[in-house]
Amino acid sequence: MVKSDSELHKVALEYLEQRGVTLVEIAELVYFLQEKYIDDISMEKCLDHVNGVLRKREVQNTILTGIQLDIMTEKKLLENPLQEIIAEDEGLYGIDEILALSIVNVYGSIGFTNYGYIDKVKPGVLKRLNSHQNGEVHTFLDDIVGAIAAAAASRLAHDNPEISDIMK
Ligand code: MG
Repeated sequence: MVKSDSELHKVALEYLEQRGVTLVEIAELVYFLQEKYIDDISMEKCLDHVNGVLRKREVQNTILTGIQLDIMTEKKLLENPLQEIIAEDEGLYGIDEILALSIVNVYGSIGFTNYGYIDKVKPGVLKRLNSHQNGEVHTFLDDIVGAIAAAAASRLAHDNPEISDIMK
């Protein structure tokens, strides 16, 4: 049976919460990406755009899939070699980044630059997710969180068309 949007939305939010990521932390990444370009930026606006991104079904599906893989890896339920690859967050795997691109895609090309940038700099919550503490696996989640922030930053930029393309 096809799940309703609101059902998926609820589960996606629960998944993020269960994995220790708050929407405020994602909004902080949006703020970090856009503060130089948008004069009247506020945490409230950033949070609005994060919520807007999370209402998209493609985004919800990506959250469900990626986090499920992280959880199964933590529980050692996958077969090798995939189990080890995801558990060790192997740099050459790359499917975590590809999956998260399905979020960035929703808001057009502006998101790609932000996604690449935030993945390199790893501010705030992304640093924590990448620290590989206590046997936690966030191989998919870190890219998903970065992608939600990049998509929300694009959404915010589209709401402020007076800023030039190059600044978005
Ligand atoms: Mg990753």
